[in-house]
Amino acid sequence: MDERKSYDYVIVGAGSAGCAVAGRLSEDPEVSVALVEAGPPADGDLFDLPARFARQLKSFYDWDFQSEPEPQLGGRRAYLPRGRVVGGTSSMNTMLYVRGNRVDYDRWPALGAPGWAYEDVLADFKRSEDNRTFEDEFHGSGGPLTVSDCRNVDPLLEAWVDAAVEAGHQRNADFNGAEQEGVGIFQVTQRDGRRCSSSRAFLDPRRPNLELIHSALALGLVFEGDRCVGIEVDRVGERRTIRCERELVLSAGAYQSPHLLLLSGIGPADQLRAAGIAVRVDLPGVGENLMDHAGSFLALPAKEGYEHDPDASDWTEVGGFLPSAPGLEAPDLQFHAAIGLNLDEGLGPSTRAGVSFGPYVGRPDSRGWVRLRTSEPYAKPRIAHNFLAAEADRAKLRSGLRLALEIARRPALAERLADPAEALRSGLVPADESDAALDQFIRRTAFAFYHPSGTCAIGSVVDPDLRLRGVENVRVADASVIPELMTGNTNAPAIMIGERAALEMR
Ligand SMILES: Cc1cc2nc3c(=O)[nH]c(=O)nc-3n(C[C@H](O)[C@H](O)[C@H](O)COP(=O)(O)OP(=O)(O)OC[C@H]3O[C@@H](n4cnc5c(N)ncnc54)[C@H](O)[C@@H]3O)c2cc1C
Repeated sequence: MDERKSYDYVIVGAGSAGCAVAGRLSEDPEVSVALVEAGPPADGDLFDLPARFARQLKSFYDWDFQSEPEPQLGGRRAYLPRGRVVGGTSSMNTMLYVRGNRVDYDRWPALGAPGWAYEDVLADFKRSEDNRTFEDEFHGSGGPLTVSDCRNVDPLLEAWVDAAVEAGHQRNADFNGAEQEGVGIFQVTQRDGRRCSSSRAFLDPRRPNLELIHSALALGLVFEGDRCVGIEVDRVGERRTIRCERELVLSAGAYQSPHLLLLSGIGPADQLRAAGIAVRVDLPGVGENLMDHAGSFLALPAKEGYEHDPDASDWTEVGGFLPSAPGLEAPDLQFHAAIGLNLDEGLGPSTRAGVSFGPYVGRPDSRGWVRLRTSEPYAKPRIAHNFLAAEADRAKLRSGLRLALEIARRPALAERLADPAEALRSGLVPADESDAALDQFIRRTAFAFYHPSGTCAIGSVVDPDLRLRGVENVRVADASVIPELMTGNTNAPAIMIGERAALEMR
């Protein structure tokens, strides 16, 4: 890294969105781009081989955040993994390619995000995409992000789909097509059976005008007057400023983009003063509106004799989208089904073969926050999700668990499972279907689905072009700008947001 050098654009965070921003901006050979990332490069099978993802959890490559005690999770602290590596969480995730429902995006304009309705964002999704299966109005081909079918679907998971169909749900071959509702096999961001992270997709190491500055922790934005002139970083113990001429883009994710703003004096004035930080911009929305999907899995041991090859699996290859009540405009529950007994959020060793599956609440009403723990930039932020604080979310999750129990009873799956009484004795399923038993099961087992978003929302913290309010030349582009969480996983949406940011900046 040349310290005297200044770049046209500096992007902070080489994750799902940041790589898309940097990759797209550097397509213009006339501009110089620096992409700053706290983690190291994502080299090797740990990142490339889909089945290895779980080994990253709680490793050096994981920021390993945890929430404040969560009242509706029985006071447990939720484990909140995030990739600290080039590619960010797209180098760690389970690679499901899901965009969310049309109805979700169509709600955004009324929340202060005109230009972000489904028909608008569809073009951004398609621009990234190289779909190896679908060629129609909903999909793109020739883009940098490879989207393909799962190569190996475990027979037990195929049986889960059959059982869901037996329970009356429709089969859906494409959750990102005309209709989201139904059950089936997810598509994945994989190229020839290997992970296609956002860094693989968008970063071309041969581009002379794109400099990846990895292993550099951003500490705060640097200002001269009202203008942001760069970012201060700590690179292996040395502090320095990486300067930008035109714009700085924060793509540090939904926990750390607001954290960096707060550390830089941009956020709710009372919080900043209390932390002893001079107020640069009083922006009350920074760190508020935190959303994620909370859900619960049943865990059901398979019959003796069933064998599973863990190295062949993507873990959660099937699932679907179902409404929590009849007559809804769109599904509000997402189901995942995964191989193995999901104990301790999948962190514990799965000593028994089996299947784990269940719902999460798609468009949650519950909201949390990200705040400063101290004004020390090396400290992790305080995070409270308030999972399932809204009774409406708990009611949806109870409905979803009832649907899950119904699927478990259907012959296609039930005939492959061990005695259900055993799962009941082990506490791997709810004691019965009463509200009280389901609530008790939820408090004991519910966990985060790792889709934090909303903490720098469009309409409150950034404008519809993703410009930070009150500062001339800073944008935010990552899952933090999502104003209301969609029913779906968040990698593809974060990449879409990165695409859109680059388009606005060019
Ligand atoms: C285990 C797991 C499985 C998941 N599975 C799926 C899935 O199957 N499908 C799906 O769609 N989504 C999935 N997700 C969620 C999805 O991957 C994320 O929501 C998405 O990657 C978020 O993108 P982002 O750009 O907002 O942030 P990130 O990709 O997290 O990028 C933020 C980047 O900023 C860097 N950074 C942060 N702070 C600093 C700093 N101070 N200085 C320098 N760099 C910094 C981070 O290291 C990181 O590289 C999963 C998540 C997890 C944890």
